[in-house]
Parts: sequence; C-alpha cells; structure tokens
Amino acid sequence: MKAEILAVGTELLMGQIANTNAQYISSRLPDAGIGVYFHDVVGDNPERLRQSFQLAMSRSDVIILTGGLGPTRDDITKEIVSEVLGRKLVPDQESLDKLDEFFRKRNKKMTQNNLKQAYFPEGCTIIRNSNGTAPGCIIEDSGKTIVLLPGPPSELKPMFEETVMPYLASKSEYRLESVYVRIFGIGEAEVEDRLLDLIDGQTNPTIAPYAKDGEVMLRITVRYPNEGTGTDLIGPVVEEIRKRLGDSVYSTDNSSLGEVAAKLLMEKKMTVSLAESCTGGLLAAKLTDFPGISEVFDRAAVTYSNRAKVEELGVRQETLEKYGAVSEQTATEMAVGIKNVSGTDIGISVTGIAGPGGGTTEKPVGLVYAALAHRDGVIVKRLSLMGDRAKIRNLTCLHVFDMIRRYLLGIGN
Ligand code: ATP
Repeated sequence: MKAEILAVGTELLMGQIANTNAQYISSRLPDAGIGVYFHDVVGDNPERLRQSFQLAMSRSDVIILTGGLGPTRDDITKEIVSEVLGRKLVPDQESLDKLDEFFRKRNKKMTQNNLKQAYFPEGCTIIRNSNGTAPGCIIEDSGKTIVLLPGPPSELKPMFEETVMPYLASKSEYRLESVYVRIFGIGEAEVEDRLLDLIDGQTNPTIAPYAKDGEVMLRITVRYPNEGTGTDLIGPVVEEIRKRLGDSVYSTDNSSLGEVAAKLLMEKKMTVSLAESCTGGLLAAKLTDFPGISEVFDRAAVTYSNRAKVEELGVRQETLEKYGAVSEQTATEMAVGIKNVSGTDIGISVTGIAGPGGGTTEKPVGLVYAALAHRDGVIVKRLSLMGDRAKIRNLTCLHVFDMIRRYLLGIGN
C-alpha cells in the first residue's frame, strides 16, 4: 500500500513551524507494513487544498491529512475532503456532548464556531481526541483510506498510535521491521564501500546507510507477510555486517554511543571522573543523562584556565609552558590528575581548540586531545575534528564515549 501525507497549514509553508507530524508518521508507517511515497504541504486555502487532495487520491492508497480540524474559519480540511468525496457533513452526538462538557468544565461559554468540530463526513469512523477538542476520522472511499488528524503533535501522536496504526496494520498484507546498526569510527563512504555488494544485491531486507551527527547508521528493513516474522531474515545480514565492519559497530538495538559507554561503566562497576577543558562540562552533562550513572560517576572538573589545570588537577607548570594546554602531555596529566584527586578507576580528560578563534597552523581549530587514565597506564588520542564550535564539542564527546567503550571491552583504541 502506498501512503501519502498531506499536511495542511500556512504556518508550515511560511517556515514558522517544521512539519514534524509528517516525519513522525513516516517513521511509524513502515511498522504497519506501509510505504510512504509522498509528503505534501498546503496552506489553509480551499482551492489549493482541493487540488492537493485530488492529486493524492489519484495516486495513493492511504492519504493521511494533518491539521485544519479546529474551530476557526481557516480550518477547512474536513470541509474540503467531504466536498471532494461528495459526502455530507453530519453531526456526531458524542462529539457534541464532549464539546459541551469540555466548555462546561472550564466554565467557558462555547462559541458557535466550535460546533464545527462535531461535524464529520457521512459514514466515517471517528477518532476520539483525549487531549484536545478536535476529533479525527477515518474514511473508506473508492478503495482508499483517508485519515484526518489534528495538527498539534500532542493530540496527533496518541490518536495515531492508539487508533490509526492498529487500523492500518490490520489492512496491510505486509509488515516491515527495521534494525539499526550504529557505527562509529568509519565514514559513510567507507561503510558503503565495504558493504556495496550487500547494499546493491539485497531486495529483502534492504540496507540503507546514512550519516548522522558524526556517526553512521545502517537501517536494515525486512518486509514480511502479516502472520509471519521478519527476524530470521535480518539476523544473518546483521551478522555479515558485523563481520565486515568489526568493532566499529557499537550497537544493533538503536542505543546511542553514550548509552553503550554508560551501560558498560555501570555493568563493570568502573568508577569514573572527568577533567574537561574545551567541552566545558558537556561530557558530564551527557553522561548524567543516563539513569543509574551515579553509581559510577564521581565528579567532573571544568578546568578551563591553565591555573585551574594546575590547582585542581596538579598539571605541572612546566608541562603547560613547554607543550601548551592543548597537547598530549597536558591531556595525560589532566586525566591522571583527576583520577588521583577522585580516587576513581578511570580518569578522563579533554583539552582542545573548539574555535572559531584560537587556532594556529601548528594547532588548528578542531585539534583535541582526549586521555583516559586507568590502572595500568594512559591512553591518549589526538583528534582532528571538523565543524563549528558546537559540532567539535559534540564530536569530542562521541570520541570519549568510544574510548570508554573500547577500553572496557578490551578492544583497543
Ligand atoms: P486545533 O484543534 O488546535 O485548531 P488543527 O487540527 O486545526 O488543531 P492547526 O490549526 O492546523 O491544527 O495547527 C495547530 C497547531 O498544531 C499549529 O500551530 C502547530 O503548532 C501544530 N502543527 C500543525 N501542523 C503541524 C505539523 N505538520 N507538524 C508539526 N506541528 C504541527
């Protein structure tokens, strides 16, 4: 079945809001075995909405419209859909009662235009909205399924999950299941190169690589009949990918690199402390995103100035003078320093030039040293990162999480 998502709202066209509803629905439909073929956006204009809806009806089996179900004059979705399908708008008693109750509870007088929300195309199935006043509906017409949902995501999502997904899944012959293989340390082009024959040769499952925030993801999607299961087909493909990409694959259950590192620290009960310069506490903030981390995370020192590095971590003045704050030697002394001060199993440091200023030819923007001091020594990494200040700081955190992962798994950095 081919689906199309038609988002209605001038705000979308003006760039005032992003079309997150279409993104959300698209990400969910594959689980119901439905492929999305078109996204359209149209303003609150009757003629253009009519044209867009007619076009959608001519080429798609499932048309999901979002927005324009509210009480005001520019909310026209139901009216135009009914008109194109040649159906009357008829009142729904339950919706009328709910509206009445909604306003009574809030001690407000219901204006006449609100009644519009209780009228629906004849013969449709109404989707109740427990988070707002505008219900949605499902219409079956000429072998097509038309779904109308309100615009606010907080209203749309529960209605979509609780009613639309099960409805569509029961109609679809196939289901799709996706597994995400997440990779760090090799670029998208190289991943593709190593898997080219697999990517080109596969039709079921399909393999799609894409780069995201400094890492590479592979989405492996299998299509299978409703009553069957797809897991058998995905497993061998994931295994083959693991074989080819080795320990750069850090998760196959969609967990993030930070999550993997945090889980390993907790599982192995390895206590950790941080000494941050260019990340200014970002690493600590990211690590504390994970519940339960307090069992292993002791402290973070944000030591931005040279003085702080000396006073808080015991970095030697001579080291700073001879090699500079952004150097292998300083990173090493910072990591050893925080480990000694806190008495943790491992101490981690980062020092670098996040830009945009401060770079030299010898030490350009994006040069970062990260060190991990452990029981038997220190691992230091020299990173040459590209991007703006925010990107460099984020990438630094990813590299540190990968260092933790590799150290704790004993797979070498
Ligand atoms: P209401 O009952 O609130 O009037 P509605 O169905 O009429 O809902 P709209 O008036 O079109 O919906 O949009 C209401 C709000 O929902 C918008 O201001 C916006 O915040 C959000 N919204 C609408 N469409 C989208 C979309 N496609 N993606 C994300 N948010 C959206």
